[in-house]
Amino acid sequence: MSEQRTEAWHFATQAIRTGHQHTPEGEHSEPIFPTSSFVFASAAEAAARFSGDEPGNIYARFTNPTVRNFEQRLAALEGGESCVATASGMAAILASCMGLLMNGDHIVSSRSVFGTTTILFNKYLSRFGIDTSFVELSDIGAWERVIRPQTRMLFLETPSNPLTEMADIRLLADLAHDNNCLLVVDNCFCTPALQRPLSLGADIVIHSATKYLDGQGRCIGGAVVGNAQQVGEEVFGVLRTAGPTMSPFNAWVFLKGLETLELRMQAHSRNAQQLAEWLERHPKVARVHYPGLASHPQHALVNRQQQAAGGILSFEVGGGQPAAWSVIDATRMLSITANLGDTKTTITHPATTTHGRLTPDQQAAAGIGQGLLRLAVGLEAIEDIQADLAQGLDGL
Ligand SMILES: *Cc1c(COP(=O)(O)O)cnc(C)c1O
Repeated sequence: MSEQRTEAWHFATQAIRTGHQHTPEGEHSEPIFPTSSFVFASAAEAAARFSGDEPGNIYARFTNPTVRNFEQRLAALEGGESCVATASGMAAILASCMGLLMNGDHIVSSRSVFGTTTILFNKYLSRFGIDTSFVELSDIGAWERVIRPQTRMLFLETPSNPLTEMADIRLLADLAHDNNCLLVVDNCFCTPALQRPLSLGADIVIHSATKYLDGQGRCIGGAVVGNAQQVGEEVFGVLRTAGPTMSPFNAWVFLKGLETLELRMQAHSRNAQQLAEWLERHPKVARVHYPGLASHPQHALVNRQQQAAGGILSFEVGGGQPAAWSVIDATRMLSITANLGDTKTTITHPATTTHGRLTPDQQAAAGIGQGLLRLAVGLEAIEDIQADLAQGLDGL
């Protein structure tokens, strides 16, 4: 099996078959190796493994066969040389910063990134002498203006949460490389099924596997994908030393999730597209933010950069927070949670949850109005999702 030229396989085939090293048991489904350490045939073999003269497993903080299976599969899907799996999406971001930056370096980050990422940069990395400037995601001039000689990393998510603004990855990759910086893309919302940042010039891809890679809301995990030096050596070095590694059980859940990733991402996108079009026609909805709509300001970019528009959308109702909350509270099926990337549709009020820590001025600057609602559209029948939302919307 391992002798096959798996790089020539298509995406769907890699998602199902890459990385499985069959054991002598002849198992069809990938095995889980719940073991913390590995044994050696002899003292000499142990010495060769420890010295690095011979490849192979030593201890599961460094490597584990099930985790490696997930890493090889995700690396293939993102088109990267190396992947390291981490205990969470945040651990993937932390390990990347620790492995690739040092005291005195500067990060330029999109303002519209996951809230905890902002806290990691502002509150924690700053203690170790790494400064971050935040800019408007889609304004390339703003990125250019804040780059300094010390800038080493540009960091973004596209599309953004919850307003689905987009970054032109190719343009930002050129800007990064002209300034001797790395472009890091958190590809959580699209996954490689819809967007492959490395093929557009990005250097590092981050994942919260917790979301769509699992796809059914079961496990916390993350990953970093990139080249053999930066990821295979530098980020891996942090992982094996600092220890936020992925458990073999979680790796197994994620690697089985990858097998259906493309099908699920297409289905999430189809449901979200239909729902966005329906919401846009609804008389009680003032505005819908979804890259698949012709009304989206960057609709042309989504067609160029993504296979489909994804499962996340947001919309605005008149009447502020009371109206938004009444739409949420009128639902009987949708899950009221800020999580996303699940088969189950979730609904949240960003101004009082995910973006609740921002001051009213910061919320206004970020475009997070009191009447804004975010949906992570799941895989239920579209008629049922619509009917559940209609109860609240019709009553406004
Ligand atoms: C959830 C999320 C993270 C953090 O991932 P965890 O697995 O919760 O640590 C990072 N980035 C994005 C875009 C996310 O949605």
